[in-house]
Amino acid sequence: MSKKELQVAIDGPASAGKSTVAKKIAHRFKYVYCDTGAMYRTVTLKAMQQHVALDDAAALAEMLKTTQIEFKPGNPEQLVFLDGQEVTMAIRQPDVTNNVSTVAAQGTVREDLTERQRQIAEAGGIVMDGRDIGTSVLPKAEVKIFLVASVEERAQRRFKDNAEKGIHTPMDVLRDEIQTRDHKDSTRAISPLTQAEDAIRLDTTSLSIDEVVDKISDIIVKKQKEFA
Ligand code: C5P
Repeated sequence: MSKKELQVAIDGPASAGKSTVAKKIAHRFKYVYCDTGAMYRTVTLKAMQQHVALDDAAALAEMLKTTQIEFKPGNPEQLVFLDGQEVTMAIRQPDVTNNVSTVAAQGTVREDLTERQRQIAEAGGIVMDGRDIGTSVLPKAEVKIFLVASVEERAQRRFKDNAEKGIHTPMDVLRDEIQTRDHKDSTRAISPLTQAEDAIRLDTTSLSIDEVVDKISDIIVKKQKEFA
């Protein structure tokens, strides 16, 4: 295997810093970045727009047959498209955030998106972040990272992120939302949020983004040497 072909899986609870870190790692190693949370959010947005019940697994499966989700490079954010329409901002709105865990618990949705994610990752040279990448989507990923941070720290990060996007949700509401989503994601029957046995756990509470990126980069470089 050449250096370029590693698969890097980054999992962890809501707002643990996964996407910020994953994007930087992808940039550093010239890997493709795939935000699987954005895919679940996009499906949720479409279901809400089309008034499909968010827990109707069969109806969601039917909807997915004609659903196209694409990522395109953007500056500074990667752009997300649903059936040809840009939805990058729309999928971050609080109503989508608060409904996504219900949609993500449906087996039909997970099967469909897992298949799409495996195709994206097939050639390697990929950094994929989510909840079940190391355990279910890419169980053979050469590098598996599980990022965690305290609820307080994660609520503060989300507060800051939101403010930059013009969303003003109070801290105590964010804290509750994060805990509710973590609970739903960790207790669902199919592919719940859990650390893979062979994943490296990193607590980012008191680390800067660059420190986390450096730690993961060191792990990747070590792995690349094994496969060189
Ligand atoms: O990562 P992000 O917070 O954008 O993910 C949104 C939601 O999508 C999560 O709360 C979870 O319900 C779902 N998700 C998932 N599996 C993944 C990625 C995200 O179930 N691999």
